[in-house]
Amino acid sequence: MIQPTKIVKSASGDLELIWPGKPNGIIPIKLLRDHCPCATCSGESVILQTAKPQKIFLETPGRYEVRTIQPVGNYAITISWGDGHNTGIYSWDLLEKLSRLSAALEAQEKQKLRQSHDHDHHDHSGHPHDH
Ligand SMILES: [Zn+2]
Repeated sequence: MIQPTKIVKSASGDLELIWPGKPNGIIPIKLLRDHCPCATCSGESVILQTAKPQKIFLETPGRYEVRTIQPVGNYAITISWGDGHNTGIYSWDLLEKLSRLSAALEAQEKQKLRQSHDHDHHDHSGHPHDH
């Protein structure tokens, strides 16, 4: 598995992954938090059933604020969030998926923008001679 050489916070406040030999990955903090892989957030684990109410999904202050990023072995990082949540372990694999998801979402946005832009300038196609 490829391991990022560096994980930094980009100027825009996103998480930036520097991979060896491929383009940097950008993950918006919100996307990162919304895809927290821990049992509490993903809700996948029913093995350890707890009686906690489900209202942890409310947007708490600091929810999208990264406090610290700690390495976990050499395969993942764990993020401590402004609201005190810190049980999610983000493996390189997951981070790569999220940066690809983010790039896909961004491309979609750009496509939408381009399409509306094309509509605005549709008249030039009626002029094949430009001199
Ligand atoms: Zn979580």
